[in-house]
Amino acid sequence: MKEFELIEKIFKPLTKGHAAAQNLADDTARFSLQKNEELVVSKDIYLEDVHFLRSDGGFKIASKLLLTNISDLASAGATPLYYMLGFSFNKNLGNDFCKEFARGLKKVQEQYKLGLIGGDTISSKKLFFSVTIFGKIKKGETMLRQNAKEGDLIFVSGNIGDAFLGLKKRFTGLSAAEKNYLSNRHFFPTPRIELGKKLAQKKLAKCAADISDGLLSDLRHICIASKLKAEILLDEIPFSAAAKKTKNDLLELMSAGDDYELVFTAAKKDSQKIFALAKELKQKISCIGEMKKSSKPGIELLDSNGKKIPIKKFGYEHS
Ligand code: ADP
Ligand code: MG
Repeated sequence: MKEFELIEKIFKPLTKGHAAAQNLADDTARFSLQKNEELVVSKDIYLEDVHFLRSDGGFKIASKLLLTNISDLASAGATPLYYMLGFSFNKNLGNDFCKEFARGLKKVQEQYKLGLIGGDTISSKKLFFSVTIFGKIKKGETMLRQNAKEGDLIFVSGNIGDAFLGLKKRFTGLSAAEKNYLSNRHFFPTPRIELGKKLAQKKLAKCAADISDGLLSDLRHICIASKLKAEILLDEIPFSAAAKKTKNDLLELMSAGDDYELVFTAAKKDSQKIFALAKELKQKISCIGEMKKSSKPGIELLDSNGKKIPIKKFGYEHS
């Protein structure tokens, strides 16, 4: 397929029901917000051999691309609306890859109720894909990294490290179901949209980040933005049963990234409400530590005896 056929046959069906896309018949897309709403925007770029392998196939690549972008909106407590797609292809790619790519997008956009409204398509030897996502939030409800307060408790959703383990091929002592679970955590993360929205709407949390580069790395961003220290307890970090079985170094799991869980801080007085929300959403939430005053913003990781554990690596960084 060539560019215009791709747009017409592969991408246009994904705009169905979304008037904002102008049926991909214009240079631009447009939509309006209510007076009391704010637009929340984020972008991700995926590069071949860095973020994905061509052999992963279109379905997995597209699913993860869109899911991880949705996760950025979750960190703000926003509701997803639309996205724009940067797509690259070449003559060796094959139509099946493109169709599978669109199938991955369709599944995710139906699940999270958002629509494609435009993009750009080019041919390139090396593949890269990009999504710019648009969401909305009620004015004044958004969560920001800089909003952590001294004495806030630190919470994290789900489990840490599964997605990293899901990329590893060789394990001993894990069942097929456990290996499958870990692999799915890698390719199909679960953006915590409902949790983010409820935390923001109920004003339970004012500070959150999604974990893309590693729990330690993303929590450190919160510390630096809020000029505070995070004191966290290794024993309280949530790891799945499958992850524990691998006997992988726990510090590596905390700095590996790709979890797409939320790390957020909240006032101590609200901790019961947060655990009630966890129950309501059937969402695992763990309290892992506390934000403290410090002349040096950063993370202090403590073992069960209160002894400091040195951290060599915080997370993934492009260099
Ligand atoms: P222009 O050259 O004016 O930038 P294009 O010819 O590239 O526009 O695109 C035509 C229409 O198709 C536009 O509405 C654009 O948003 C849409 N489009 C192009 N590529 C994609 C894509 N990968 N996904 C969704 N829409 C796309
Ligand atoms: Mg144009």
